[in-house]
Amino acid sequence: MPQPSRLVWRSDLGWSSYSPAADADPKQGLVIHYDSADQNLANKSHSACIDYWNATRDYHVNSNGWVDIGYSFLACAHGYVIEGRGPFKQQAAQRGANDTHYSATLALGPNDPIPDEQVRAVRELRAWLMEPDTSISGDVYGHRDFNSTSCPGDAAYRMVRDGTFTKNPGDDIPDDGGGGGGGGGGDAPDWPGTYLSQPPVEHSAACETWQDRMRERGWVDSDGRELTVDGWYGPESERVCSLFQSQKGLAVDGIVGPNTWDATWEAPVT
Ligand SMILES: [Zn+2]
Ligand SMILES: [Zn+2]
Repeated sequence: MPQPSRLVWRSDLGWSSYSPAADADPKQGLVIHYDSADQNLANKSHSACIDYWNATRDYHVNSNGWVDIGYSFLACAHGYVIEGRGPFKQQAAQRGANDTHYSATLALGPNDPIPDEQVRAVRELRAWLMEPDTSISGDVYGHRDFNSTSCPGDAAYRMVRDGTFTKNPGDDIPDDGGGGGGGGGGDAPDWPGTYLSQPPVEHSAACETWQDRMRERGWVDSDGRELTVDGWYGPESERVCSLFQSQKGLAVDGIVGPNTWDATWEAPVT
């Protein structure tokens, strides 16, 4: 996947080409953010997004005292990806994961719409960051997966959970029915909030739930026998997880995170 079709570099904004932030190599995915206040940028011209981005940087540097704007990127309502700290930089965006995950804000509030162009911008950004140079995992998260926050808002978080952002840029975009209210997307039980991985081999109720569903989907162990449902996430679970991820076009890491969890219930059984 080439770079996003509408990419604005920080140097295009008159900022220094490279952020003064510390170097990092975030590999574990992309975290979606929003603004806690409605911005109505979808109904304004794109120049309002540039103004927003400059003002955000100003605030982060001069009021927060940060070395630079907090986020890696902005994916705007007009389909542009605008560089913040950019690639290979530590962020001030999601506490505990500023060196491990990239961040993209949608610059919208709880009642702002999320236009299709904006969804496509996130997809293009993700696909670009998955290229060999940066080679991040294709997993997409919401800020609330890491910290206690409303971010990125219920509407965007539904899209995080139902896999809207992890599709190819050209794929259809389901109607989300706008912001506010609404029940969680699809039929998957809520992601338990913990990653199933090994080693060490650990026992959890979430693992048992996942194994049971995988068994129900017809997965078998390496001896061809019905999958053991014992709640222990070991090599056998990891093997099946990787095969499933590969079959469903997910990032193959053998770890059950939110995207794999949801796909376990929502992806068609093939
Ligand atoms: Zn956030
Ligand atoms: Zn814009």
